[in-house]
Amino acid sequence: MQMFLDGAGCDSLSGSTLPVYNPATGTVIDTVPAGTTDDVAAAVAAAENAQATWARVSPADKSRILIAAGALIRGEADALATLLTTEQGKPFREAKDEILGTAHIFEYYASMTGSIRGDAAVLPKYGYMNVVRKPLGVCGAIVPWNMPAIIFGWKAGAALACGNAVVAKPSETAPLTVLRLAELLAAAGVPGGVLNVVTGSGASAGDAIVRHADIRHVSFTGSVATGRAVSLAAAPTLKKLTLELGGNDAFIVAADADIDAAVAGAVRNRFYNCGQVCTSAKRILVDANCVDAFVRKARNAIEKLVVGSGLDKVNMGPLNNPGQRDAVAAAVDRIVNEECGRLIFGGKKQEGPGNFYAPTLLSDVSPDAVSEEIFGPVMPVIPFATLDEAVEIANGTPYGLGASIWTKNMKTAYTAAEQIRSGVVWVNRHLILPPEIPFGGTANSGYGRENGREFIYEYTEPKSILIGL
Ligand code: NAD
Repeated sequence: MQMFLDGAGCDSLSGSTLPVYNPATGTVIDTVPAGTTDDVAAAVAAAENAQATWARVSPADKSRILIAAGALIRGEADALATLLTTEQGKPFREAKDEILGTAHIFEYYASMTGSIRGDAAVLPKYGYMNVVRKPLGVCGAIVPWNMPAIIFGWKAGAALACGNAVVAKPSETAPLTVLRLAELLAAAGVPGGVLNVVTGSGASAGDAIVRHADIRHVSFTGSVATGRAVSLAAAPTLKKLTLELGGNDAFIVAADADIDAAVAGAVRNRFYNCGQVCTSAKRILVDANCVDAFVRKARNAIEKLVVGSGLDKVNMGPLNNPGQRDAVAAAVDRIVNEECGRLIFGGKKQEGPGNFYAPTLLSDVSPDAVSEEIFGPVMPVIPFATLDEAVEIANGTPYGLGASIWTKNMKTAYTAAEQIRSGVVWVNRHLILPPEIPFGGTANSGYGRENGREFIYEYTEPKSILIGL
């Protein structure tokens, strides 16, 4: 596919391309332009040209365009989901959920265009103060490969609703669905230049977006290491950043929890998208009084998961890329070899083509062995003795994205919710993220919030106007 610049498809100025692979087969399915600094400069120029006019489009008209985008995405949901599965690897059913979720994101932002406003106050002796919210101008959106469609939707939907123009860069391993979404947004009425997608590597196109002086805000979702690099590269141009980095969510099962519901929740959330979600249930903390029953039931459920190409009827697909699969395998091997946990099920790469790794269950895992995020299909179960200990383990990593507590006791739920350091805590649920919930992390999981009402603070800036009386 071509990249999307100033309302039309185009190649990179250098003419070079990058291959896109099917993670289930390892074969090349397409190529995209390998964008560089020059392509980013052209996209920013187009965006700058178009932004002021877009900012003056009425909230009602912006809303109509975003609703139309949602409808076009819904109308093409099966084809988009097939494309997403083919480049990302997830089962078709999950891909379709993501696509319908992306349509809903644009509809959500359509509903918010009329609510983007500031404050007013009478200041005795001085006058009448208005604080209006102004668009930032051109916003950069750097998107990872794990949930490319919906994360693109979070960033582009919010930026467009606030009157900004966008230069987005999808991941080099899952750029195709984002490119098709950009075409659909244009077909829905987003004017040329308002939304641009430059494909290419992070080191080239991504870095150029972060460094460009006329991009005033970058929303980045990806790893902590890249988040740090983005933060340093953004400093000279003093641009605003929203950083959504990794997570290492604790999923805490209290002794009084409904064990069957907790097992089902843990298995569903840990193996969804092959474990490659920033808010996956990555560390399963279980009260020592029920840990044996939990592990037995979890093993029964995990044994039944069908693994294969996401285009077949499966519960879990491959990892997105070979590097990710090898990193997961190395993490499991280290835990087992250093006797920091017992292998109950899985623990191996699947022979043959594709980036497959068996759904894996580890018990008696020491908390320190999983202080780094494992971004793949591995469920480490960590026993605990008291709620205080569970909270301490939950907080014992550099991350702070999400967490959940499974219990029937309100006091246990509230105590854990209050004491766990994270951007979101669920009670008897995990990984529920409708657009109404402001999403983002603390500590090494990043800063800033997407969705909710909080997006307004990320994608606009206040301007104070004092009218003397
Ligand atoms: P990554 O950091 O390697 O890449 C993310 C994006 O950044 C890609 O588009 C990449 O091309 C680009 N990039 C790479 N180097 C860059 C640079 N120097 N400058 C600018 N852009 C650059 O991450 P990934 O491997 O694609 O995604 C997996 C990671 O993302 C996991 O750690 C996961 O936890 C995290 N993640 C976090 C969230 C969240 O909301 N907090 C959501 C999804 C994924």
